[in-house]
Amino acid sequence: MSKYMKVSGDTIDRLYTACPECGPGFFMGKHKNRSVCGNCGYTEFNQKKKGKK
Ligand SMILES: [Zn+2]
Repeated sequence: MSKYMKVSGDTIDRLYTACPECGPGFFMGKHKNRSVCGNCGYTEFNQKKKGKK
C-alpha cells in the first residue's frame, strides 16, 4: 500500500504540483521558475533541494 501511494504521489508531484492551500485536485500552473495556483494565487518557487546547506 505504502509503495503504491509513494509511487502515485511521486508521479503526481512530477507532472503537476497540487496547491498546498487548496489541497489535491487544485493544480498549480507552471511558470519559468515558479508555480502559481490559479484558484487562490499561492506561489511556490522552484528551488533546488540537494541537501547543500
Ligand atoms: Zn490554491
